[in-house]
Parts: sequence; C-alpha cells; structure tokens
Amino acid sequence: MAGFVFGDGFFSCDVAIVGTGVGGLYCALNLPETLSVALFTKAAAEECDSYLAQGGICMLRDDGDYDSYFEDTMRAGHWENTKESVDIMIRSSRDVISDLVSYGTQFEKEADGSLAFTREGAHSVPRILFHEDVTGREITSHLLSAVRKLRNVRIFENADMLDIIEKEDGSCGGIIVSATGSSPLAKSASARNFQGRHIVPVTAKRTVWACGGIGGLFAHSTNYPHLTGDALAISLRRGIHLKDVDYIQIHPTTLYSKKPGRAFLVSESVRGEGGILLDAQGKRFTDELQPRDVVSGAIFRQMEKDGTPFVRLSMERIPKDVIMTHFRHIYERCLDEGFDCTKEPIPVVPAQHYFMGGVAVNSDSLTSKGRLYAVGETSCNGVHGRNRLASNSLLESLVFAKRAALSIASGIGSDDAPSWNGGDLSAYMDEKSLADENRAAVLAEIERAKKARNG
Ligand SMILES: Cc1cc2nc3c(=O)[nH]c(=O)nc-3n(C[C@H](O)[C@H](O)[C@H](O)COP(=O)(O)OP(=O)(O)OC[C@H]3O[C@@H](n4cnc5c(N)ncnc54)[C@H](O)[C@@H]3O)c2cc1C
Repeated sequence: MAGFVFGDGFFSCDVAIVGTGVGGLYCALNLPETLSVALFTKAAAEECDSYLAQGGICMLRDDGDYDSYFEDTMRAGHWENTKESVDIMIRSSRDVISDLVSYGTQFEKEADGSLAFTREGAHSVPRILFHEDVTGREITSHLLSAVRKLRNVRIFENADMLDIIEKEDGSCGGIIVSATGSSPLAKSASARNFQGRHIVPVTAKRTVWACGGIGGLFAHSTNYPHLTGDALAISLRRGIHLKDVDYIQIHPTTLYSKKPGRAFLVSESVRGEGGILLDAQGKRFTDELQPRDVVSGAIFRQMEKDGTPFVRLSMERIPKDVIMTHFRHIYERCLDEGFDCTKEPIPVVPAQHYFMGGVAVNSDSLTSKGRLYAVGETSCNGVHGRNRLASNSLLESLVFAKRAALSIASGIGSDDAPSWNGGDLSAYMDEKSLADENRAAVLAEIERAKKARNG
C-alpha cells in the first residue's frame, strides 16, 4: 500500500485530485489501490454541482440509437463538437451506467423492471436515465460513499488549490493548497497567510483537475458560487492551453426569485414531459424542445417584448402524479417560493448554467502540461461543441474521468514522487487578492475569446 507523507512543510501523495464531484470521485475509484490518492475540495465534499444535477444522465439505449444520439449531440453543439470525443462518450455510456448501478445508484424503472427513460430538449428519443428529480445526488452520493471506503484515498475538505507546482522539466509536480487550521494538512504547512490559512505544498506524481464550472463568476447562475474557474486562471498564468472559453451555456428555465443566492433550476425534463412556456398574455411563444441556446434566446426576446423580468412555465399538461413523483423536489421548492406548480404557471428566467469550454485536453484527459490531467466541466475535450445537449455532462465527466485514471495507471510506472525543496510562496500570502485577480483574468479571457471569434 502506497502512503501519504505528512512532511515538515509539505504533503506528498501519488495522485492529487482537485474536486469531489463526479469527475474527481470516479477518477479516484478507477485508480489502482496501490496508489495513494488525495482529493481536495474548496468546500464540504457534497458541495459540488454534481449533487445538484436534476434531469438525468444519457445512455445509449441500444446499437440502433447510436446514429440518432450522435446526431442529436452534434446538432445541439452546432456541429462544432470533436467527433472522436462524442463517439467515445456514447460508446462508453453503457459501461459507465453499469458501474454506477454496481455502486448502488438506483435509476427509475418501468413496471417490468427495465430501465425507464425520459426525454429532454433536442433529444430525438427518450434516452435519459433519472432518479426522481435528484439524479445527481443519487449518483454522486453513491460514488462518494464508495470512495470513502477506499483505504488508499483521503479527502481534504475546505482545502483550496491556489496554484500548481512546476517541475524543472516544465511538467506538473503537484499543487499549492491553502487549508484551515483544523485540517490534518495544517501540520504540513510551509507558511500561514494574511487570511490565517495554512499554505501547504502538495507534491504528486500526477495531478487531476476536476474543479467543475465557472458559475461563481456570474451574478445569476445555477452553480455553487465557489466554482470560480480557478483551473482556468492558473492555466492563463502558466501557459496551459484553453479551448472555447467563450462557450457558456445559459439554461432557459430557472425559478425567478428576488432572493439572493444560487438560481434554482427547473429541469429541462419538465419541458420534455409537457411543460410549456407562456408570455405575459398567457400565450405559448416558442417550441420548448429546441436546444437550450435557442430556447434561452426566445425567452430573452419575449421578456424584452413584454417588459417583464421573467416568462411563465406551465406544467398543467403534466399529470399531477408525474409532478409529485418525477418532479417532487421542484414542486416543493416552488411551494416554498409561493407557487403551486400543479395549479398555476411558475415564473422562470434564464441563468448561467454550464461551461462547454475549459482546459484543453486530449481523449485521455491530458492537458498541454505534462503529468496534469483535467476532467469534468473544467476540461474541454470538445464533446459539447458550442452548446451542450441536455444530460450529456454527467456522462461526459464520468467517461473521461475513467480514461484519465486508466492513462495515469498505465503511465505512472516507477516515477519518483517529486520533492519539495522550498520555494517562493509570497504569491499566496494574500489569498483574497489572488482570487480577485483570478476572477478578473478569467472574465477578461472570456471577453477576449468572444471578440476573437466574432472578428
Ligand atoms: C442545477 C444543475 C443541474 C444540472 N443538471 C444536470 C443534469 O440533469 N444532467 C447532467 O448531465 N448534468 C447536469 N448538470 C451539470 C453537471 O451537474 C455538471 O456538469 C457536473 O456535475 C460537473 O461535475 P464535475 O465533477 O466536473 O464538477 P463539480 O461537481 O461541480 O465539482 C467541482 C469540485 O471542484 C472543487 N473545486 C473547484 N475549485 C477548486 C479549488 N480551487 N480548490 C479545491 N477544490 C476546488 C469544488 O469544491 C467541487 O468539489 C447540472 C448542473 C447544475 C448546476
């Protein structure tokens, strides 16, 4: 059994994974148990977007569905998707789902015991597996408990990655983390910063970024606010290649509320099951099952025309028993906000939701920097093109996290653990200023990419 080293002024492991969403967890589960694997997360392990996923996860139903699934993904992505990545994702889907089931994930079943499928916008046929309207929680909680049983894996919560460590050959040799005083990492700190946090160099033979999306950079987003694209900021500083950073998905339907905080998503499958969008006069104004960018555009135009901060979503065509079972949590949340969605249309507004772009990776999830991988929403392997097809992201995260793990397992060989011989930590002393600089750098890069694309 490989070990963790709580050194004097550094911590060391074989593989450092940043993020405890589906990407990070599934990568850890697919690494050999002979490797010491440390997972780091800015918040509690459960506080990640993977827990929030509502609608479901796509699966290739049978070989006959391949062409249609491929075409739906490409069409939603405006044909800008990387075909090889789409092919890998679709062909790996059944294996990944059977892995999830083996970890205890329960998907909705038909009366005869076969898997039940729902439909979402831009899918030609129902091919989405779901668990009520909390599919992400069902999947991620089982992955997390499987990871927690592994003796070779440790999870460090409230541990923020501030940077990577660069080896002399230019490859990645780990990360710089800031941890709280109560963290077991604190005893390996090299310094204490202005915010009173402990700066811990973490050396690792391989590093995996599984840091999720960028919703925390926006005022209105369905994402957790601590997801601020830190891997992108580090990439900009360190010359690591990025791809399509201006491809940001706006979800058409989040519950309109004047309360501050994360926007509550009203899943696409509500429209897939019959929900319709209404203007201020109560008239339907668009085809609700078009790709997300098209529906969001139609809503923005309608809001402008009506002079309202929202449009309405009616669920009256959906049988009440379906609302109470499939969409129970959405029903309850609407009630909390004062709307009974079984009886009246609810106000909805588009919000930032998903990041198609990210840290550029190859089909094994390796970035342009040696020994550094990126998986999940932080990465961009081109699967989604310009616009993600609904319910492809959990699947994509899982498929390419496993590929990263297999690539690491086959390549790590007898690599020595990088050493930490001291280094300049002054850049991490004011973490608040660093976070502000990161935020500004990523937003500026998004604007630059937009301008470059539009000429
Ligand atoms: C409301 C909502 C509904 C969704 N519904 C669906 C759906 O139905 N189907 C679907 O396929 N997809 C859905 N998605 C998208 C999907 O949930 C995400 O794309 C996917 O879960 C991303 O997984 P991940 O592992 O990449 O990141 P996440 O699950 O977001 O995890 C990111 C992790 O990185 C950590 N982290 C970030 N930065 C740092 C740092 N600097 N230091 C340390 N840790 C860091 C975070 O703390 C967190 O642990 C939905 C998303 C949202 C927000």
